[in-house]
Amino acid sequence: MATIGFIGLGTMGREMALNLAKAGFEVQGFDLRAGAAEELTSLGVRAAGSLSGATRNADAVITMLPDTPDVEAVVYAKDGLLANPPTGKLVVDMSTIAPDAVRRIHADCAKVDVDFLDAPVSGGPIGAKNATLSIMVGGRQEAFDRARPILAGMGTTITRVGDSGAGQTVKLCNQLVCGLNIQAVCEAIALARASGVDLAQLRDVLMGGSAASWMLDKLGPAMIDGDTKAGFRIDLMLKDLRLVQQQALTLGVPLPGTAQMTSLYVAARAHHEGDNGNQALFRVYDRLANQSAR
Ligand code: NAD
Repeated sequence: MATIGFIGLGTMGREMALNLAKAGFEVQGFDLRAGAAEELTSLGVRAAGSLSGATRNADAVITMLPDTPDVEAVVYAKDGLLANPPTGKLVVDMSTIAPDAVRRIHADCAKVDVDFLDAPVSGGPIGAKNATLSIMVGGRQEAFDRARPILAGMGTTITRVGDSGAGQTVKLCNQLVCGLNIQAVCEAIALARASGVDLAQLRDVLMGGSAASWMLDKLGPAMIDGDTKAGFRIDLMLKDLRLVQQQALTLGVPLPGTAQMTSLYVAARAHHEGDNGNQALFRVYDRLANQSAR
């Protein structure tokens, strides 16, 4: 079975690495956070100890890191992926990062004969745990064909959507839809609550009709219960919305709904919600309505 170097064992990467191990891959994991890889050793992931330890003798390396500079650090470091490529010359970045940075990294990797795919995901920690992620891939068809059996250990919908950077563009479209949807759910719950309607019933009825959505299903109950525990953090969503805005401005595409929704996320962070889950956007609505004074 192939050996996979897995870099970034946070909320998502941890579950994805475990699923690869379950699928029979030899996984050697690395994370900057002390103990993150060691926690997984009893579950079948080997702790690589260093970046170069994760890439050594690997058929492919997967990165699952917070933001563009983190992926660049791993690629361009002295002992990074360019200096020390995996034996199989395949790198798959599954983080959400800037499409133009992806194209730059792809070109630099090609110079040393390494294939770099952008393969961001949708489905959150639940999809990561159940290996049911939707994976949108940009890069060469031949590289995609090689990566596909590995990606199949982590997701169910696996689609090559175009050349380098295209996976990230599709992911940014995904985030824009998610953000506007979360905002819509917040507004429905805010109105229903002020009207004295039973919120659990509201959710159940809406889920049975044309207003049904993943966000209402998964985040609605947490908003209603005031549970702010993070799956996908407000700070990570703001990072994605910044990438959406940058691309829209560069291309001259007006996105008024996204601009306004992004401001609500900025307000959430200003109110120290950055480490909370996306459902904490609802707390901005609490404050707008001065809910505590009602
Ligand atoms: P996270 O912050 O929980 O995990 C990231 C991990 O990367 C951390 O453990 C951190 O220590 C590690 N790390 C950072 N720099 C490193 C480096 N140079 N070398 C090794 N390890 C390093 O983030 P996450 O929630 O797992 O998200 C990862 C990526 O997936 C992000 O780009 C995010 O936008 C995207 N994503 C997240 C979700 C979600 O629901 N959490 C869903 C879809 C996509």
